[in-house]
Amino acid sequence: MKIYTFEESTGGLPVNQDELYMREALKLAQQAFDEDEVPIGAIIVAQGKIIGKGYNLTERLNDVTAHAEMQAFTAAANFLGGKYLKDCTLYVTVEPCVMCAGASYWTQVSKIVYGARDEKRGYSAIGSSIIHPKTTVVPGVLEAECANLIKSFFRNKR
Ligand SMILES: [Zn+2]
Repeated sequence: MKIYTFEESTGGLPVNQDELYMREALKLAQQAFDEDEVPIGAIIVAQGKIIGKGYNLTERLNDVTAHAEMQAFTAAANFLGGKYLKDCTLYVTVEPCVMCAGASYWTQVSKIVYGARDEKRGYSAIGSSIIHPKTTVVPGVLEAECANLIKSFFRNKR
């Protein structure tokens, strides 16, 4: 199912809501890139409003758990004043890892939209039962752009 909105900036052409929010997550991934962090960005949206943001901070915080999704979950829970993220959507530029997918289970987030696949570390390599049964997953939104950012990051590292 696709939800379309009409934005003036596109001259009245329909805009895919998921792509619109993924662009916001990509901005955060770019921020991570600029700070020499693995470029992954995440946002949480509730009722058309961004209530949590995050990008990978594992280098700066010297913390392997400081993934973009974890930052966004914490920010959203703080915003809502409750730990559950029912009726919320997580947008993340790369497929969540097992840890983040596990965290998403505990939040009971309604929907996860991700960009690039992560064949090695993505949760689906282990099994999709990590995701809460009530959570809908939409993969591959702006996949090429999300993947390109990661690829160029690791290309620079070599
Ligand atoms: Zn993760």
